Amino acid sequence: MSALLDKLQDLQEVDIELATLDKARREKPEKVEESKRHLQRLEEAVAGERAALRELQKNSAVKELDLKTHEEKIRKLKKQLLTVKTNREYSALLLEIGGEEADNSRLEDEILDLMTQAEELEAQCKDDAQKIAQEEKRLEAELEKVQAELQEIENRIGELSELRKQKAQDIDGEALGLYEKIWNAKGNRALVPVSGMACQGCFMNITMETLSRLMADKEIITCQSCGRILYLEEKAEE
Ligand SMILES: [Zn+2]
Repeated sequence: MSALLDKLQDLQEVDIELATLDKARREKPEKVEESKRHLQRLEEAVAGERAALRELQKNSAVKELDLKTHEEKIRKLKKQLLTVKTNREYSALLLEIGGEEADNSRLEDEILDLMTQAEELEAQCKDDAQKIAQEEKRLEAELEKVQAELQEIENRIGELSELRKQKAQDIDGEALGLYEKIWNAKGNRALVPVSGMACQGCFMNITMETLSRLMADKEIITCQSCGRILYLEEKAEE
């Protein structure tokens, strides 16, 4: 019986490696997808910043135009000053000029403020564009690496599948069927050692009777709690 258990253990080692490889095969592309999403978020952020920048520049241009209109008006008013006949007209014109100049002063402040904001945003855009370029480079390298790794994984899976077939052929059909049934149900180990009276699959204690049946080595014994095939660890028997 222990020879059969040894063979099952051997088979299980192959199955464990196959399961690990299968997991890696599924997870690696997911990581690449995450990197792609990260890059996309950066690109969306920059697109938003560029749109905001255009809006700022548009506002600024409108105000510049407004400023020119006021300047034009001030020039005309100043010309008029030279032709007025009365003090009242003169004072009224001066007042109007003062109002226009105050408007312009406010506009100039606003334009300056918009320009400062635009400069900051432009710097931010440049910074983010650089980040995107770096991220694109990194992603390209990552893709290449993952593709190579996936190829390696596929190759190894091919080898192991072949090896598994050979090992399975050498195992009694009924025992193999039981092993595979447990493996599929548990999604991992079907065969576990007993250590210090405890099943190492579910960590529940086995009974003395189970232990003596295990030691008798005449049949396949499964754990009463989790149903996995049990074997005695050689070291535990020393
Ligand atoms: Zn168990």
